[in-house]
Amino acid sequence: MAETGRMAVFHGTGKPFEIREYPVPEPEPGAALIKIALANVCGSDLHYWRGEQDYARMGRPLPLNTGHEHVGTIAKLGEGVTTDAAGRRLQVGDRVAYRYFFPCGRCKACLARHFKSCPVRQANWLVSCEQWPHFQGGFGQYFYLRPNHAMFLLPPEITDEMAAGANCAYTQVYAGLDIAGLKAGQTVVVQGAGGLGVYACAVAREMGAGRVIVIDGIDERLELARQFGADTFVDLREFTTPEARVKRVKELTDNWGGDVVLELVGHPGVVDEGLRMTAPEGTYLEIGNINVGWKAEFDPSWIIFGNRRIIGLAHYEAEHLRGALDLMLRTLTKYPWHKVVSHKYPLEEINRAFAEQDKGHVTRAAIMPN
Ligand SMILES: [Zn+2]
Ligand SMILES: [Zn+2]
Repeated sequence: MAETGRMAVFHGTGKPFEIREYPVPEPEPGAALIKIALANVCGSDLHYWRGEQDYARMGRPLPLNTGHEHVGTIAKLGEGVTTDAAGRRLQVGDRVAYRYFFPCGRCKACLARHFKSCPVRQANWLVSCEQWPHFQGGFGQYFYLRPNHAMFLLPPEITDEMAAGANCAYTQVYAGLDIAGLKAGQTVVVQGAGGLGVYACAVAREMGAGRVIVIDGIDERLELARQFGADTFVDLREFTTPEARVKRVKELTDNWGGDVVLELVGHPGVVDEGLRMTAPEGTYLEIGNINVGWKAEFDPSWIIFGNRRIIGLAHYEAEHLRGALDLMLRTLTKYPWHKVVSHKYPLEEINRAFAEQDKGHVTRAAIMPN
């Protein structure tokens, strides 16, 4: 009988994850099979779990193997895969980081080398977990890494707890601040100190930000942001209205605002205040609002007369993942990279993990499928 592996299967909003078993796929030439060590519950996982994102309406087939913020070891290598993207020899059992989406390499976006904009990069999630290769997400014992995909050998100093968030959260904000063109000495404002928010503080700091202002209202999150390099805090419990928060950010910045403001809350209600906190010539970096169909209201003249720009960002290039891992390795003693994963749960307790992270006090729940 073929070997099987366990997976937490998502049936749609309002339904609990179910543990099922599927045959473990044999990698095609150029592909690899990853044995998952940790798979985090990301803010975007909560969006579909809560029903803010409707997978059925988005055309994603159910049941589905979800989860995208993960790390693992090589279980099997397909024919021809002998090295990682940096040319280092790969063997079964090696720990690796990789992107969870798959640019096709031959569309208009890919040919222009904008791999993060490949329209079919998430085609792995247009296949139900009922179909081969079954393991297309992180909440299962394995992950099928499609052919010709960049992966990076992880140094022993970077633990699984540190590396899990590199896929998605950490590299997402690393790419964002790179693309926004943050310059040394500038002010960064972070709306929301969840996983992405705390990572953004360290990246901003390392890219030379003069000041890193964080807006949140939960003690554990504000404290972790401080440990990740934030120096100034706007507490939602003290500054309870958008007007008060905008005024506070202006006071803190010589009436200027943030040169780069990151939206990492994931609610359109924060867009207007985020834009009004953005300095003239500054950039509003929109990463969190992934709920299709939700609308934000703001005054567009504010963008025009301040020569501001809005950058939307989903996903990143493989090179961003490599750069983010290098930055982590260089700053292991400076930031508590291991602390973002705050709670761990066995695969069977995935429903409890989602419920507890949803309450806000769990920065990142990590699922351990093996
Ligand atoms: Zn994510
Ligand atoms: Zn493409």
